[in-house]
Amino acid sequence: MIIVLKHGASEAEIQEINDRLIQEGFKIHLSEGVEKTIIGAVGDRSRLEGLDLEALPWVEKVVPILAPYKLVSREFHPSDTVIKIGEREIGGSQIHVMAGPCSVESRTQILETAHAVKEAGATFLRGGAFKPRTSPYAFQGLEEEGLKLLAEAREETGLPVITEVVDLRDVELVASYADILQIGARNMQNFNLLKEVAKTDRPIMLKRGPSATLEEWMLAAEYILDGGNPNVMFCERGIRTFENYTRNTLDLSMVPALHTLSHLPVIVDPSHGTGRWQLVAPMAQAAIAAGADGLIVEVHPHPEKALSDGKQSLTPPNFQTMMSDLERIAKVFDRSILKGGAQ
Ligand code: PEP
Ligand code: MN
Repeated sequence: MIIVLKHGASEAEIQEINDRLIQEGFKIHLSEGVEKTIIGAVGDRSRLEGLDLEALPWVEKVVPILAPYKLVSREFHPSDTVIKIGEREIGGSQIHVMAGPCSVESRTQILETAHAVKEAGATFLRGGAFKPRTSPYAFQGLEEEGLKLLAEAREETGLPVITEVVDLRDVELVASYADILQIGARNMQNFNLLKEVAKTDRPIMLKRGPSATLEEWMLAAEYILDGGNPNVMFCERGIRTFENYTRNTLDLSMVPALHTLSHLPVIVDPSHGTGRWQLVAPMAQAAIAAGADGLIVEVHPHPEKALSDGKQSLTPPNFQTMMSDLERIAKVFDRSILKGGAQ
């Protein structure tokens, strides 16, 4: 339910409504825009009827939200959410490129990659320390050692770090090293994990499950917002279809769809979305044209030796070329791509 207030409603008037709603067991989310103040109330709709809020002279209207997701919806929060990470802002006019290896493999590998991607204009360093692998025999990640190496790379380059947390028992540990927590595709509907990351003060990048619908994905994000963490970004990383030339089918229609239905930023992962390094740059360009707020791209100094996802990893020179092409595309859409962490 959203309660739209008339222009100029006072603090006391807003408070009066909040008090009444809280008394009836609603959770309140206030959105104070330049034009309008909107109170979002989540709770039992039948209890709202007795309150007769429309009778208050400073209430313009009470509108039910019919969609099952509330807090992530654009109706609830009409302006775009901009997530601040240090001095970087995700969801504004600048497009951020997060880049790095699929997995942190060694000190040399992560430091070399971090310097190379920073040089090319990436503004975040990615790298998995805990890896969700299809096969139990595949490399599972360096775990805490990997997190330490990511922290060292951040120290050297100034690039904030995004890394995946796969298990709710590790949330505190990963959050103590990471600037953004990644929830992987396989965990999109791991509701206990979602509730746990909701308790942290770290922004969350929520990847789309390989077979999740838009509504299921938005409801997964709703868990995190409902749990108290408003800083969530979606990440389209491809879905499973009958096509098997590509690893997944990158569903770029989700970018404008999410921007219409939600206020949260949208990131695109053309690496997992295609599984082939040759397709990464073209799909990154398409993602920007579709309105993505950022990209997450796998880069490895020696893809042929990578312990995971070498086939879809760009070399540093290929990443550099992609970045300069992307800058030109971004300009067409009145956006820009930050260079080397410069603000
Ligand atoms: C990853 O980012 O390395 C990863 C495992 O991605 P996804 O969860 O999208 O498969
Ligand atoms: Mn990967």
